Amino acid sequence: MTCEQCQDLLLGEPAPRDRAVAEHLRDCPDCQRFARRLDAVADRLGRIGTLDEPVSMFELYQAIFRPRRRRRAWVAAGLAAAAAIVLVLGVSLAALSGRLQTLGGQVVALRGQVGELDGQLDEARADAREDLMLMMEELQSNQVLLVEQERRLLATNDELRQSLTEAQQSITRLETQIRAVSDQPR
Ligand SMILES: [Zn+2]
Repeated sequence: MTCEQCQDLLLGEPAPRDRAVAEHLRDCPDCQRFARRLDAVADRLGRIGTLDEPVSMFELYQAIFRPRRRRRAWVAAGLAAAAAIVLVLGVSLAALSGRLQTLGGQVVALRGQVGELDGQLDEARADAREDLMLMMEELQSNQVLLVEQERRLLATNDELRQSLTEAQQSITRLETQIRAVSDQPR
């Protein structure tokens, strides 16, 4: 295996560390250095995920392209494109991070508002409960009054019935007396 073949394989995604590559790497300091640089880049890419800092294109070139040997042009072009993507990605991620922080602040503010609303809701609930209690008390006292009035009306009804019966008895008595008087011979 040539160094070029080895390094092209190492650049594959994901890097194929097959037996032939491993054997070549064991005996080739150049390719060992190349692999270390690749690992450094991979490490860098991994760190972008934590949003420490965007990787600059210059740093990527430093990590990958310190030219010790001629490399195929398309590999260089591919890595340059990858570096540009990483740069854009880094900037985007930084912007996204800022946006996430803003959103985090908004979430905290919203949580505060929700807490406030909860307090207001509790107050409103307490008020409503109090109103309901008052209404129920009022209804109960009204009911007591109604029962009392009903009782009085029934008593009055009984009295009236009694009076009516008495009046009818008086009328009957008077009629009897009238008849007795008119039946007497003159
Ligand atoms: Zn080699």
